[in-house]
Amino acid sequence: MREYDVIVVGAGPSGSASAYFLAREGLSVLLLEKERLPRPKVCAGAVPLAVEGLLGFGVGEAVEGKVQAVTWIWRSDRATWRYPEPVLYTVMRDRLDALLVSKARAAGAQVLEGERAVRLDEGRNEVLVFTERGRYRCKFLVGADGAGSIVARYVGDVDPRRVVSTAEAEIWMPYEFLKACRGRAFVEIGAVPRGYGWVFPKADHLSAGIGGLGLRGVRKHLEGFLRSRLPGPVRMEVRIWAYPLWGARRRWVRGRMLLVGDAGAFANPLTGAGIYTGIWSGLLAAESLKEALSRRDLEDAYIRRVLGKMAPELYAARNLGLVYAFPGLTFRVFQLGLFRRNFLRGSYLGIWRHLTLGLGGYTSTQF
Ligand SMILES: Cc1cc2nc3c(=O)[nH]c(=O)nc-3n(C[C@H](O)[C@H](O)[C@H](O)COP(=O)(O)OP(=O)(O)OC[C@H]3O[C@@H](n4cnc5c(N)ncnc54)[C@H](O)[C@@H]3O)c2cc1C
Repeated sequence: MREYDVIVVGAGPSGSASAYFLAREGLSVLLLEKERLPRPKVCAGAVPLAVEGLLGFGVGEAVEGKVQAVTWIWRSDRATWRYPEPVLYTVMRDRLDALLVSKARAAGAQVLEGERAVRLDEGRNEVLVFTERGRYRCKFLVGADGAGSIVARYVGDVDPRRVVSTAEAEIWMPYEFLKACRGRAFVEIGAVPRGYGWVFPKADHLSAGIGGLGLRGVRKHLEGFLRSRLPGPVRMEVRIWAYPLWGARRRWVRGRMLLVGDAGAFANPLTGAGIYTGIWSGLLAAESLKEALSRRDLEDAYIRRVLGKMAPELYAARNLGLVYAFPGLTFRVFQLGLFRRNFLRGSYLGIWRHLTLGLGGYTSTQF
């Protein structure tokens, strides 16, 4: 049986980016995915343009739309932030994920589809991965298998209080309606308790949905949101999903295994966005694994990077989650245009420091 330097379980954005970064560094990599690609994924598909800087290549071929204006909604009030350049891409996940997998493959990773990992066996010098079809051996393992991660079960527990529940609808609207929405994103603050509602335009339909921390009855909440925001009746497909946000996991690495993306609960705790942070965690994982292969401790290498590079922004974003307790006040602040630049660029630490008068944005004891 061939031994790989690294096996990555799961070919979402976090897994395929990890495989890409690892293969680019010359490591032998196997990427295992339970589905056949391209496969659909429940997601609103809003991605900051900065993702291309992280990846080092463009994702243009997966882009459905470019957002240049964000309209915040509170009850019957609206405030629109307009930008001279696009600030967000909207993508369909089947195409984005397939693109990232093709990049990983081109960089030298071996990709096996239809291979669900079902069991792991960690030895002193290796990890064995058992799938429904075979057995694979590696020095290190990356768990990129999403919210229901099997790898995460070997690493540590998740805090159910930090899991966001969502319902999303893909909605086909008349052409004129879609045209009017082009280039814009709509976000209703406080559409649901401890969360928000969104309407994002795609090339031939809209993605609309709601999500909230610990939210119950998501389908009913979605129906209420759509009734209030869209002309009906409309043709749509509704999907429901839940995933952990940053702060839900105390461990992302144990022994020879580490977690990236939703498996490691790296999604932004303020917005719920997990594509950018998932890819970022994949980059940090690749750097840490490379270091570990030259005999340094994997746990130390990964924890140091996560706490040093990602955690400050994510803790600050978590603290800013306070906005959900005061949606009306938040809307008024947005109406004044405050934080217009930082917010969509994802520089939450700056906002938090500003709000706390420079007293420091986070402490690691909050974790
Ligand atoms: C309704 C909704 C809207 C969202 N909107 C946005 C948004 O607008 N922007 C944003 O950035 N984020 C958004 N997110 C979050 C985002 O979808 C996730 O954070 C992101 O998908 C995480 O990527 P990942 O690669 O870690 O996991 P996933 O995308 O879940 O990928 C995991 C992969 O692992 C595979 N897998 C699972 N188990 C196994 C196994 N045992 N063996 C092999 N393969 C396995 C799966 O098939 C899948 O391909 C949204 C989420 C939801 C639910």
